[in-house]
Amino acid sequence: MLGTLLMRLIFYVLPSAIFLLFDSAAPTLSASVKQYNELALPARKGGFRGRPTWWKVAGFSTLNVLLGLALQFSIEFLFTKILRMSSVIRISMALPMPWRVVRDIGLGLCLREIIQYYAHRFILHPSRVSRYTAANEPWLQLSKWHQSWQHSVSVPYSFSANYDHPAAWAIWRWLPVFLPAVFFRFHLLTWYIYIALVSLDEAFTYSGYTGLPSFFIWRSIARMQGKHLISGGAGNYAPIGIMDWIHDTTVGEDIVDRAKSELMAGQNNRTVRSRSRSKNRNRAGRH
Ligand SMILES: [Zn+2]
Repeated sequence: MLGTLLMRLIFYVLPSAIFLLFDSAAPTLSASVKQYNELALPARKGGFRGRPTWWKVAGFSTLNVLLGLALQFSIEFLFTKILRMSSVIRISMALPMPWRVVRDIGLGLCLREIIQYYAHRFILHPSRVSRYTAANEPWLQLSKWHQSWQHSVSVPYSFSANYDHPAAWAIWRWLPVFLPAVFFRFHLLTWYIYIALVSLDEAFTYSGYTGLPSFFIWRSIARMQGKHLISGGAGNYAPIGIMDWIHDTTVGEDIVDRAKSELMAGQNNRTVRSRSRSKNRNRAGRH
């Protein structure tokens, strides 16, 4: 449990706090590298009506992270102490093989993509479903909370990734991350690497910075998350965007087109670099 807390603090809370500090200490510089410029500054005055203050977003975001740990602890306690079953996360002294760690994390991220897509789209943005149900259905409350909490931020910054009503947050943020670990019975080491990756993903893709290290499609995923908020939840429900591409719910350029353009850009850069290297060699040869 302490390990999970450390992973969340080091890889989500700390980078989010550093980004928040940078946004506040150097707003002009920060706005120049943000997707939505000064609109995305957390401490900006005015803006969208009902926009929560940065300290409220940072506070509730951190509280939700702690709530996730409490939920995980309760489930572990129920399984090991009350039901006398084995721990949901596999704890063993034998270390897993590296290929098994990579495979489990890959499978975990795929299942997270699927669960988060359906939970986010149909439970928290049920516009298509609600046409056939009474508007006062109790389960629609979750969607109202998601709108009035998460979507009140409008333009993303790292702490907004986990800013939501705790019940809505548990449905679309906590369950999609935790369930794959239970389903695939992650080893504790795999769980730590997986939770560190998810935490970094949340901190960076919601940061709003356009100059993110491009690590293939990471920058594109960040743009998609921004568009989910700025469009008021019209699409981009999944964390990576593959499910949005399958269901045609992408707002803006879809993940496959983005991946193609990133690949093309990478190829063009390599060609330009090799051309300039050969020019330099020719010049050096003439001297
Ligand atoms: Zn949403």
